[in-house]
Amino acid sequence: MIRMATPSPSVLRRMIAGAVSAAALLAAAFFLFRSRPPAFPGSNVILVSIDTLRADHLGVYGHFRKTSPEIDLFSRESILFENCQAQSVSTLASHASILTSQLLSHHGAYFTRRLRLPSHVPTIAALLKERGYKTASFNDGGQIAPEFGLDRGFDLYENMDKDFTIDKLHFERIVRAAEAWLESRGTSKFFLFLHTYETHAPYTPRPDILAGFESGYAGPLPPETSEDLIDRINRGEVEISEADKAHIIATYDAEIRSMDASFGDFVASLEAKGLLDNTILIFTSDHGEEFGEHELMATHSHALFREQVHVPLIVRLPGGRLGGRRAGDLVRSIDIAPTVFALLGIDRPPSFEGASLVPLMRGRPLPAPVFSISQRDMLETYRRDFWSITDGRWKLYKGLLFDLAADAGETRDVSAFHPDIKALYRRRALRLLPPENLRTGIEPVRMSQDLKKRLEALGYLK
Ligand SMILES: [Zn+2]
Repeated sequence: MIRMATPSPSVLRRMIAGAVSAAALLAAAFFLFRSRPPAFPGSNVILVSIDTLRADHLGVYGHFRKTSPEIDLFSRESILFENCQAQSVSTLASHASILTSQLLSHHGAYFTRRLRLPSHVPTIAALLKERGYKTASFNDGGQIAPEFGLDRGFDLYENMDKDFTIDKLHFERIVRAAEAWLESRGTSKFFLFLHTYETHAPYTPRPDILAGFESGYAGPLPPETSEDLIDRINRGEVEISEADKAHIIATYDAEIRSMDASFGDFVASLEAKGLLDNTILIFTSDHGEEFGEHELMATHSHALFREQVHVPLIVRLPGGRLGGRRAGDLVRSIDIAPTVFALLGIDRPPSFEGASLVPLMRGRPLPAPVFSISQRDMLETYRRDFWSITDGRWKLYKGLLFDLAADAGETRDVSAFHPDIKALYRRRALRLLPPENLRTGIEPVRMSQDLKKRLEALGYLK
């Protein structure tokens, strides 16, 4: 007869301890697996840039209004970067930085000087095309019309603003075109770049959304905020009350809500097509918008304060891996392309100036400290000191030093109290912006009458 021995209390304790250690090992292995995103070779890449979308007007970045339920939901399956800074505050220069991973002084594409992206600067589209990707863009043109050179490397670069209807430019139109292209593209891997001016002025919100965002506005301003009205306010010809200002902001927020609905439709269609498991999907913007925090109302491109350089950056990995993480570290628009290359397991080209953000996705610090440079204009960079540098703790801009830990709104110059820090950050900035790189290989652009009309509608040729 076989008799099962009853373990003694000490053996039982050892068995339990052994089981606990095995469970701990399994948990650690699981954590390591979860926290180490593998390369995603051959994944598709979709880059969505919503023009003029300041990060802090999205719910998931803390906005008080429900502007972005779809983006908020999307961020739960994604890694959200809380503090992403754009390298410029105008559309062409900033998109050129996103697509080339270079600072404005180095890529040289700047609208006000009528300079297109020089043909020698590699773009993410051209680099991925060389590696067998099908490349397509559906965008609202204007400063990123093909004439400005950002179309390089795209098999298809569709400017959707063919009928100059800037006030009717809705992301929905871009999404529908992208969905049709995805249906017809076949099976090859792809890079898709989508862009809309829906949240750019003029703000022409859907009346039902606006009504839900404000109740009882009885002031003199119309339900749409035109470029002309914004100009007159900023020239001092129209005085506005606090209620009027809140109304203008509500018209901007309502445009965000409508864009958000289209973004939600787009993500749903990717899911229906079975693309979410093999696609890296990046959501960002080229710059923010000022609502009177420092200088002007309902516009951008004139200064480098936070409201204009702080942009959303939300990255969904294939299958929603590491979804729900938030990284509070300072990151930059020029980090997007190097991150894509790291995720795809492709060696980065030497022209990239940004860093891969994969370590932050894993919950680890970046190997080197990050300094974010923003510039308004290449020539003003040196003539008027028109640049900013920040590491997330201090920010130096036009000779003013801000202590961001105590003054996130950048309102108090503390350079008199910290001359050593000011000098240090100035040296750092000038090391990153060597004047000898200025204007190397620049290429002027010739604009057609059609393009001039489009840019006028966006308020750019005043
Ligand atoms: Zn823009």
